[in-house]
Amino acid sequence: MGFKSKARKKRIVTNDSSNEKKSKDIEFEGSINCDIKDCNNWADKKVGGRKMAYARAVDVWGSSAFPRKMKKVSLCKAHYRVWKKEKKGEPKEWE
Ligand SMILES: [Zn+2]
Repeated sequence: MGFKSKARKKRIVTNDSSNEKKSKDIEFEGSINCDIKDCNNWADKKVGGRKMAYARAVDVWGSSAFPRKMKKVSLCKAHYRVWKKEKKGEPKEWE
């Protein structure tokens, strides 16, 4: 009796294609900053940012929330949400 048995076991190689890596929106680098003071979020459209008239934003945060007066302000997603929320409860302008 020899020792001639080459173990021919097929190894089941599991190709783990379900290896999820969730490192998406962490290192997004935009080009537009949120104009609200002390906010470091991006206001790029890609990440849900919005632009709106200065006056409309001042309505919610007051002019002190902005470093200076400008025609349009850029808002990050979070701030835009806040704005939307604020506006929802208010009656429409009567003028
Ligand atoms: Zn913001």
